[in-house]
Amino acid sequence: QLAMSFKKVGKQYLNGTTALDSFSLTVKKGDFISFLGPSGCGKSTALKMAAGLSEQTEGEISVFGRSPKQTLQKTNDIGFVFQEANLLPWRKVLENVMLPLELRGGRKAEVKKEAMRILELVGLKEYARAYPRELSGGMKMRVSIARTLVAKPKVLLMDEPFAALDELTRQSLQSELLDIWEREQMTILFVTHNVYEAVYLSTSIAVMSSRPGRLTANLDIDLPYP
Ligand code: ADP
Ligand code: ADP
Repeated sequence: QLAMSFKKVGKQYLNGTTALDSFSLTVKKGDFISFLGPSGCGKSTALKMAAGLSEQTEGEISVFGRSPKQTLQKTNDIGFVFQEANLLPWRKVLENVMLPLELRGGRKAEVKKEAMRILELVGLKEYARAYPRELSGGMKMRVSIARTLVAKPKVLLMDEPFAALDELTRQSLQSELLDIWEREQMTILFVTHNVYEAVYLSTSIAVMSSRPGRLTANLDIDLPYP
């Protein structure tokens, strides 16, 4: 089943920068696609447009038959984790994680239990009652990941979500992500700079080049394993 498609998508920012040119990609339901490529090749731009947070200037993007903007406004199908944690500063950590389920009208006790479970998975149970300002950058990121995972979105968009984490936390979140992906049959687009992470996690790798119009998906990569 087709989950998402990018058809000759282009993005030119207002200052004239071409961030993406004729980018095409087809994503099946259940795919876990990593985007690899040099800084500035348009990975974040592609993800932001897929999230419905930014609009392409050319081409078409579809998410389960809708435009990303419609999907964002009318459904709970899309979840994203970007480099900024974007937590609500006036809500405690646990309350931030509970939010997506509260918005769906979940029963308070169950919502709290599920939010706590996910907080424990990201190693922040003891910080449930802290405010975001009391946390380090990496900890805020973990809260942001927890908040997104709790919602179990059909499509998950992640922009270098683990880059700022220590090795142990990274590994536990990676395996948690794989569990949830499998269990929920999620479709994931994942931006990373880490080739090993891409190979370990994903079903396909989209290699993007900074030369306009170049995208090759499913490349085999020779890994210099240590
Ligand atoms: P990547 O995620 O691969 O590093 P980005 O999507 O962030 O690449 O950026 C692609 C190009 O678009 C870069 O040249 C970047 O400088 C430019 N760019 C990104 N965001 C903006 C913006 N808001 N306004 C202008 N140019 C931007
Ligand atoms: P990270 O690499 O996760 O951003 P830091 O290097 O900033 O973390 O902090 C290392 C550790 O110090 C954190 O895991 C946390 O236990 C603790 N810490 C950092 N900032 C704070 C804070 N404002 N309040 C309480 N503990 C903190």
